[in-house]
Amino acid sequence: MKIFEWIQEASEKLHEVAGESSRLEAQIILAFALGKSRSWILTHAHHTIDPISINKILSRRLQHEPLPYILGEKEFYGKMFHVNRSVLIPRQETEILVETILQTHKHQKDISLLDLCTGSGCISISIKLNQPYWNISGSDISIEALDTAKKNAAFHNTDIQFIHSNMFNHLPKQQYDIIVSNPPYICKTEVLDKQVSAFEPHTALYANNNGLEMYQIISNEAKFYLKPHGLLYLEIGYKQSERIIHEFQSKNWECLNIIKDLSGHQRVLVFKT
Ligand code: GLN
Repeated sequence: MKIFEWIQEASEKLHEVAGESSRLEAQIILAFALGKSRSWILTHAHHTIDPISINKILSRRLQHEPLPYILGEKEFYGKMFHVNRSVLIPRQETEILVETILQTHKHQKDISLLDLCTGSGCISISIKLNQPYWNISGSDISIEALDTAKKNAAFHNTDIQFIHSNMFNHLPKQQYDIIVSNPPYICKTEVLDKQVSAFEPHTALYANNNGLEMYQIISNEAKFYLKPHGLLYLEIGYKQSERIIHEFQSKNWECLNIIKDLSGHQRVLVFKT
């Protein structure tokens, strides 16, 4: 079978799961299966391939497995991160969290930061790459997630301290200048795309109390882990802003900033005590 024939057939099959990206995904899957670049694929349209092993990879995608899990990587804030089914796939919206922190504190050289629920480590590592002198820690409830975060930190040659902890339960009694978190915030009754709900780790997605449980914990505990002028940066679900701001205000936090994502949803909140 020739490359262009395989791509044609695969894009038709992929249309149901990948929609408009089906042709691009077919090329990416083929490039991955052959260990070649996508530009090599595009310039070797008449090259003959044996489709059997390639179709095995294609069938994973046809069963809705997200492409980053198949490829084992996802780009975030301009860098590649290893991903697997023990970590949430880094999302574009989360780059706002990173960007906001880097912009706000760009002239500060001496910052200690905790990334609570670090997952793949994408937030803490992206910040460390841009602010190498900052002292950065990341925590997560999942040992498997922490293993992935450590692998990513080593891959990017960054020195980050990773801590195994369910929220604040096992954190050292230390105070940080910044706490950042993109915690699990999906309400358990919300119906998600199959490629999210059937493949991504539920502990990283869902939270009790309409998705608000982690914010309630953070609003109670984070002040003990922040320095007097410390700041808290949170990613939130697209319909949660009002309830979360109310929750934090009732615990004497002040909301300093609300940042919208590209769809116009309030996505990042900044608080101080
Ligand atoms: N901090 C990671 C991310 O933003 C993981 C978040 C999570 O597991 N809820 O992708």
